[in-house]
Amino acid sequence: MNHHPETSAITAGRPEAAPDASINPPIVVSSTYHAGGPVGYGRYGNESWSALETAISELEGGQTLSFSSGMAAISAVFSILPIGAPVVASNQGYSGTMGLLNQHHASGRLEVRFVDITNTAEVIAAMKGAALVWLESPTNPCLDLAELPTIIAAAKKLSIGVGVDNTFATPLVQQPLSMGADVVMHSVTKFLAGHSDVVIGSLSTADTALYKRLEEARRFNGGIPGPFEAWLALRGLRTFPVRFRAAESNAQQLLPRLQAHAKVTKVRYPGFGAVISFEIDGSPEQADKVCQSSRLIVYATSLGGVESIWERRRRWAGESPSVPEQLIRLSVGCEHVDDIWQDIEQALTSL
Ligand SMILES: *Cc1c(COP(=O)(O)O)cnc(C)c1O
Repeated sequence: MNHHPETSAITAGRPEAAPDASINPPIVVSSTYHAGGPVGYGRYGNESWSALETAISELEGGQTLSFSSGMAAISAVFSILPIGAPVVASNQGYSGTMGLLNQHHASGRLEVRFVDITNTAEVIAAMKGAALVWLESPTNPCLDLAELPTIIAAAKKLSIGVGVDNTFATPLVQQPLSMGADVVMHSVTKFLAGHSDVVIGSLSTADTALYKRLEEARRFNGGIPGPFEAWLALRGLRTFPVRFRAAESNAQQLLPRLQAHAKVTKVRYPGFGAVISFEIDGSPEQADKVCQSSRLIVYATSLGGVESIWERRRRWAGESPSVPEQLIRLSVGCEHVDDIWQDIEQALTSL
């Protein structure tokens, strides 16, 4: 862990050097292993997962478990909480997480206390007797920021568990384990893998006992990644720091251009990263039209890939009603910034 993240992303999780040993980990396709070893079966461990897990651990700290998706990773965390456990969570965040929290709350599986995550006093006031604080910062898609160090410190003082979805910020911007969080989650699907070709998730923790419980949750719930998916994600992760900085630089150059555009009413950007959410002066149908009018930017959901992608988030029935109807989430990619801007400009002329 002495290297910079730019270096670790390239060096971590490689097989040991030996004459003619491959420099990349193999894709190990086997449902079982000869008896006598510590792993034993394909749902308990896999060399291709381990290589990816080692690399994510070098970036986030702790020990990592990979999962079949970001949602499988989040589900594993919630699954180890007792029935009816009080959980403090943001009232706005990734729609899948919000859907799961709402469902758990309605069924009584968890007692979710939804808070305004930007109001630190409100978040801390809701912590009394809670089992877990689940944080996502910046939030998807409104890009709200939580005061992570203050909130995490307050929760730890009360011995409350803290989980952080670090998908948007990535370990290049913040490392929640170093702030005292118990577990860090990634939709590796997004920036870490970065090529829109794989759905995969991860959990990292520095707490050995918690690692064991989460590993057991993966083993019993069965949300394991495929070996090929793990290999693809690691191949993508090799260039994650380079891609992230390039996309971030593009986003920061697009920001003033969007802010100055007559048809754009509100631009949200947390100050780092590659996602910009903006509202247009027009109806939801017109916002859809803008997204459909792009020729370079891909009209699709998801984010964090090398290609720029956008969509109107409220086109999804599952998106929170607190997200403005005309809000377009733009995941800025690594194309030339002037080409992206030209496409945004021509798409906005549809208004
Ligand atoms: C996409 C996303 C998830 C879910 O991850 P999947 O890999 O799609 O299951 C969770 N949190 C955030 C912030 C996301 O953007």
